[in-house]
Amino acid sequence: MSDIVTALADVVGADQVLTGERVSADYGHDEALSTTAHRPSAVVRPASAAEVSGVLRVASAHRVPVTARGSGSGLSGAAVPEPDGLVISFERMNRILEIDTDNHVAVVQPGVTLAELDEATAAHRLTYPVYPGELSASLGGNVATNAGGMRAVRYGVTRTQVLGLEAALPTGEVIRTGGKLVKASSGYDLTQLIIGSEGTLAVVTEATLRLYPRPPHQATVLAPFRTVDEVAHSVPKVVASGLAPLILEYIDGLTMGAITHAQGIDLGLPDEVKETAQAYLLVMLESGHADRLDVDTERLGTLLTELGAIDLYVLPGTSARRLVEAREQAFWTSKAAGANDIIDVVVPRAAIAEYLRISAEIAQRHGSYVLGCGHAGDGNVHLAVFQADDEVRSALLRELFEASMKLGGLISGEHGIGRSKKRYFLELTDPTTVALMRRIKSAFDPEGILNPSVLLNP
Ligand SMILES: Cc1cc2nc3c(=O)[nH]c(=O)nc-3n(C[C@H](O)[C@H](O)[C@H](O)COP(=O)(O)OP(=O)(O)OC[C@H]3O[C@@H](n4cnc5c(N)ncnc54)[C@H](O)[C@@H]3O)c2cc1C
Repeated sequence: MSDIVTALADVVGADQVLTGERVSADYGHDEALSTTAHRPSAVVRPASAAEVSGVLRVASAHRVPVTARGSGSGLSGAAVPEPDGLVISFERMNRILEIDTDNHVAVVQPGVTLAELDEATAAHRLTYPVYPGELSASLGGNVATNAGGMRAVRYGVTRTQVLGLEAALPTGEVIRTGGKLVKASSGYDLTQLIIGSEGTLAVVTEATLRLYPRPPHQATVLAPFRTVDEVAHSVPKVVASGLAPLILEYIDGLTMGAITHAQGIDLGLPDEVKETAQAYLLVMLESGHADRLDVDTERLGTLLTELGAIDLYVLPGTSARRLVEAREQAFWTSKAAGANDIIDVVVPRAAIAEYLRISAEIAQRHGSYVLGCGHAGDGNVHLAVFQADDEVRSALLRELFEASMKLGGLISGEHGIGRSKKRYFLELTDPTTVALMRRIKSAFDPEGILNPSVLLNP
C-alpha cells in the first residue's frame, strides 16, 4: 500500500491523501440502514479532473477498488467503499463554474451541494428543480443515483436535467458528453448511461445542468382522506387534471403523526379529522401569477373534495414549509423509531393503491410493519420496514420487491440498488438484462475497479 500512497501523493499532493487516523469513520458509510460500514485504506481529495484521472491511473495499475464519494447521504450503501479500497472524495471540487442565464444552464463540479446550487440560482431567479429530501447531497452523488425527490412529478428526475458530463474513466481517460444542448442525436447517449450508474462506470468530474425560471408564487393544500386507498386513487386524477402540481405526496396517518410530532408542528387540524384520516395528500402548486394560482388552488380544492377528501387546508407559508421539511425528514423519524430498513419501490402511479394493499398483506403475513409516505405522483412508494429478524426481513423484502415488479414496477425509483438491494436485484431481474449490464460495465471498467460490490457482483 505504501507504493500506492506515494504514487497518489505524486498526483494530488501528500496532504490530500488521508491514511490511518486521518481517515474518519464517516468515509466508511452512507445513510443506508442495512449495510455494514468499511473503513477504506486511503481517501484522496483531488482538485481537478486531471487529478481524478491521475488517481484512477494509479488505482487501475495496482487494481485497487475505488469508490467515488459525494456527501454520503445515499440510502443504498453505494458509497460504502471496499475494506481495502480507495475513496475519491469531492470536497475540494466544489465550485459552481458557471450560471449561464442565456442558455438556462449551470456548470458545476461534483462536490457542489444542492443547497449551494439553490442559493446561487435563486440570485438569478432561476432554479435547479431536483429536491431530494437531503439538500446536503452533492451533484456528483445526485447524478450517480439519478436522484428524484418531491418535485420530480413536475420537472422530472436528475436524468431529465443533466445535459452533459465530464467524466474520468477508470482507465484514466477523461471524456465529455452532451453539452449546453437541448437536443442530441449523435451516437450512444453516454450521459444517460452514466446517470444512475452508482459510481460503477465512470467518475463524474463536471455536470452541465438545466435551469428553469423560479416561479414566485406557491400554494400548499393538505387533504385528509378516510383511507389510503382513496388517496392512492386520487393521485392519477390530480396528475391528469392538468394542474401540474410541483409536489404530490401521500403520507399515511401514522407517519403524519410521527413526522409532525418529531418536528413539533401543529397544523391546527381538528381532533376528529386526525382520528378519521388514515392518509393525507400533500399538494403544492406554483405559478408566475398570483391570480392564476388562486384559480388553480380553487380547482384543486373542488377536485379533491369530489375525490372524497374529508376537508381541505390551504396551509400558510410557514406551516407549509415546515410540513414539507418534516416530510423530507421522514427518513430520520423512521430511523429514530427503530425502522430496520427503508425501501423506495416504484410502480405505475395508477397501481399505487393496489401495491399498498398488497404490501400491507405481505407485511402482516410476515408479522412485520410497513408504513410510510411517498412521491405519489411518481408512483414512488417509500416504506419504513419494521422487522428486526434478518431472515424474516429478507423474505419480506423479496416479496415486497417482487410484488412491485409484478405490477410493472421496479425495486428502486430513486435511491438505487447499491449494496443493500443487490441480491434482490440480481435475483429478480431478467438474466439477459443483467448480462448486458455486465458487458457494459466491462466496456467502461475492464479491470473492475469502480465500486465492484455495488449493483453487480464483482
Ligand atoms: C433524509 C434523506 C432524504 C432523502 N431523500 C431523497 C429523495 O427524496 N430522493 C432521492 O433521490 N434521494 C433521497 N435521499 C438519498 C440521497 O440524498 C441521494 O441518493 C443523493 O443523490 C446522494 O448524494 P450524495 O452526494 O450524498 O452521494 P453519496 O451517498 O456520497 O454517493 C451515492 C452514489 O454516488 C456515487 N458518486 C458520488 N459522487 C460521484 C461522482 N462524482 N462520480 C461518480 N459517482 C459518484 C457514489 O459512489 C455512490 O454510488 C435522501 C437521503 C436522506 C438522508
